[in-house]
Order: sequence, then structure tokens, then C-alpha cells
Amino acid sequence: MQLKNYIDGKWIEIDGLQYIPVINPANGEHLATVPLSTKHEVDKAVEAAKKAQKKWALVPAPKRAEFLYEIGFKLKEKKEHLAQILTKEMGKVIEEARGEVQEGIDMAFYMAGEGRRLFGETTPSELADKFAMSVRAPIGVVGLITPWNFPIAIATWKSFPAIVAGNTVVWKPSIETPLMAYEMAKIFEEVGLPDGVANIVFGTGPNVGSAMVEHPDIKVISFTGSNATGSKVAELGGKHLKKVSLEMGGKNAVIVMDDADLNLAVEGIIWSAFGTAGQRCTACSRVIVHKDVKNELEEMLVSALSSLTIGDGLDPTVKVGPVINKAALEKINHYVQIGKKEGATLLAGGKALTSPPFDKGYYFEPTIFTNVKNEMIIAQEEIFGPVVSIIEVASLEEAIEVNNSVKFGLSSSIFSQDVNKIFKAQRDLDTGIVYVNAGTTGAEIHLPFGGTKGTGNGHRDSGQAALDVYTEWKSIYVDYSGRLQRAQIDTEN
Ligand code: NAD
Repeated sequence: MQLKNYIDGKWIEIDGLQYIPVINPANGEHLATVPLSTKHEVDKAVEAAKKAQKKWALVPAPKRAEFLYEIGFKLKEKKEHLAQILTKEMGKVIEEARGEVQEGIDMAFYMAGEGRRLFGETTPSELADKFAMSVRAPIGVVGLITPWNFPIAIATWKSFPAIVAGNTVVWKPSIETPLMAYEMAKIFEEVGLPDGVANIVFGTGPNVGSAMVEHPDIKVISFTGSNATGSKVAELGGKHLKKVSLEMGGKNAVIVMDDADLNLAVEGIIWSAFGTAGQRCTACSRVIVHKDVKNELEEMLVSALSSLTIGDGLDPTVKVGPVINKAALEKINHYVQIGKKEGATLLAGGKALTSPPFDKGYYFEPTIFTNVKNEMIIAQEEIFGPVVSIIEVASLEEAIEVNNSVKFGLSSSIFSQDVNKIFKAQRDLDTGIVYVNAGTTGAEIHLPFGGTKGTGNGHRDSGQAALDVYTEWKSIYVDYSGRLQRAQIDTEN
């Protein structure tokens, strides 16, 4: 199958474009070829989106929302089909793939509901016979740049609020996982979303992504990906005075206090560290443990690893799938070697699996380091694989300090039975997401998603907060006094 861009409601095939293969990371299977589009295709998509936006903004929001309901029903109808494709192109196990598609369904219905809300404010004016209100106004054409690790959920977090608010979108998915975008485009077509409202252009970041960030008619860029790319996008976007929303990396920690339910903590750590083979932005990559329970926790974690079957995620008994590609495998291995050199103790795992039945895919053993010092590279940098570092602390205060010492601020978690510790922790942990007695993953779509410090630049995906990215506040004053009234000056009525 040769994928095509979806521009202005049409499937566009362009002669002379280079195509590259899309590979199943579990077994090397060739799934499709994806075009490497150029600035020309971006220009075409933006032109279509710009034209469509004028009309789309005038469609009443509850009517725009009707399309999202239809999209939600289609996603629901196709859930299993989409989950199978997701597992094949990205590698996450089928149960998680179903969960990701469900996130898209939830987002569709939640944002469709916004069609009848999109609340603004009315407030008294300081002057007599004057009415004051604020409304959300669409911004125009929105550019979406998304990563491979959540190929459908993240796109729905961004595109649905943008669309319901009256914007049109140009979306560049990751070329590692273009099939989910292709499936989404089919759904846009099937529900009759007006031409040009959602456009998809496949290609690389430096070509298609940069062309979008530079395009004068794209007013907002919503990006999710690595910090290295995010800072380039911010720099270029800043130069063009764009609104840029960035969601980037994490170095998320689970804190285990001495009064924690250790069985629950182990379950939470295993799920959030090794689910999606550690390739979630919210994955647990540090365990900050109280010294009194460190040994016991380590023994329990190592023993829990034996329950993690590794393999092709389409097999329902598999718990840890492959990582995305060879480069990821090499990067993870590189960090493991750094950890060893830094003097951390390898408690379990530590190797890529290269013999049959793993030799055709990209598999890395679930890996646990202990005796990790906070200043070590493996305790500070995002590894983005199934590797977790155990750091010992002597108090809650120290645990919070260690948690907050990294440059990222996405997710954190604390296991404790002490309500005082829990409330102190949720106040003092400096991440955008905090879990109590649960791992670091599992965000729900009706709450804001994003991080502090190096993880983001103050915006949020999903929840009501997402609407702030895709709308401008417009304040409207209606003076029905029939005379000129000057705010702050005419103080006598
Ligand atoms: P990446 O930065 O390599 O790529 C992300 C997207 O940016 C891709 O579509 C890519 O093609 C594009 N891109 C690359 N160079 C570009 C450029 N110069 N200009 C414009 N676009 C460009 O990230 P990835 O490897 O696809 O994803 C993994 C990263 O994403 C991890 O760091 C992870 O933590 C992060 N992530 C963050 C969140 C979050 O919400 N905070 C969620 C998921 C993933």
C-alpha cells in the first residue's frame, strides 16, 4: 500500500516524490510506503485549509460538533481494526493499542460536547447601560506536528479542540507511524467533514515540519515530541511570531515511602515503566525509594519482571512489545552502557534481544538499575525505553527534592498511606501531573495534559485547557446608553 496525502478532501498522489517503507518494529514486516512530501504539498494543504476556515468558522459550533460525534462513532465502530494497525506500526501491545484508540473516542465525544459550551464570560461593566462579555474566537489555520509513540491519541487531543473551535488543521504525523493518520483521514472523508477542514501531509520534520512552522498562514503550531526538536520549533516559530504549544519529554518518578503498600507500588512501577516498552512520555524512569523499604522493593520488582512476556504485541499474552526502531534500540543500549560506567548496579535486564524469535524486531529487556545517584546521567536524561533507575532517599523532603531536580516536569507519583505525606507531596511535586497510589501513566482526556519546566512552554493538551491553544479571547463591550462613556474617566453615572 502506498499512502497518499489528504488535502482539501482529496487523496493526492504526486509524481516524483520519494517514498520510504513503514516497518512493523515487532518483526520487520513491510506495512506500506509513505511519501516524503515537500514544501509544495504544505503550501497546497495550507491554501486549502485557509480557504475552508473562513466558511468553517461560520458554521455554528454545535453543528461543527456533529462531525466530531460522527468521528467518535466511526472510531468506536473501527476500534479493533485501528488497534491492530496501531500495534503493527508502533509496536505497543494490543491491549494498550485498544486503550489508545479509546482515548481518541473519548476525546471526540468530549470535544463534541464543547460545541454546545465553548464558554466565555459575561461580567458587569463599570459603566451604566453597558454590557461586557468575552468569547472564544477561532485563530485560523493550525499546524499539528505529532510523534510516533501515541500516533492517534495525541492527534485527537490536538485536532478535535482545534476543529470544534472553528479552526482548520494541517497535520504532519511522524513518518514512523503514518498508518493511523491515514486511517483518520479515511474517517474524516467518511463522515463528510467539509473539504480542507482537516489535511494530512506526510513527510520529515526538517522538510514538512519546518515548512509548516515557517508558513505565514499557519497561525498556531501545536507540537509534541522531543526537547531537541521542540526547541527548534519554538525558535523558528518565535521568529515568525507564532503561537507555539510544546509538549516534550519527561523523566518521571514514582516515590515509594516506607509506609507504602509495596505490592501496589510494584504493580504501578512495572506498568508505568515497562508498558509501551517505556516509550510513553509519562513512563516511570526513576523510582525514588525510602531506604527502609529499598531492599524489599527491589526483590519484589525483580521477581515481578518474570511475569513480563516480551514479544509481538499482537499476541495477547505479551506485556512488553518492541521499541520503535533500530536507532531507539541503540540509544537505549547507549544509556545502559553509560549507567554501568557511572557505577550504577544493574539489577535486571540490560541487553537488546537479538536471537530468534526476536532477531527480526527491535527488543530490549526490561532493565532495572539500582544504587543510582541523582547526579548520574541515567537519572537525569530521558532514555525513552524500558529502563528504570532506583534512587534511595531518607525522607519525603529528600524524595521531593530528587523528583524536582530534573529539567523535565511531566508526571510524578507517590505511594504512601499517610494522608499528610500525600498532601505535602501533591503540593510540592513540580510536575504537571501527579498521581497518588498509582503509577505515572494513565491520563484521562478531560483533564489538562502537559508538564512544567523543560517539558513544555505553559500550554496544555486535552481538557478545557486545550481550547486556550486554539482560540483567542475576544472581549466585547456593548454600550446601549446612547452617549459616549469613557472607561476609567467618566466615573459619575
Ligand atoms: P521527535 O521530536 O523526533 O519528533 C516529533 C515530531 O516532530 C515528528 O513528527 C517529527 O517528524 C517532527 N520534527 C522533527 N524535526 C522537526 C523540525 N526540525 N521541525 C518541525 N518538526 C520536526 O520526537 P519522537 O521521537 O517522534 O517522539 C518521542 C518524544 O516525544 C519523546 O521525547 C517523548 O517524551 C515526547 N512526547 C511527549 C509527550 C507529551 O505530551 N509531553 C507525549 C508523547 C511524546
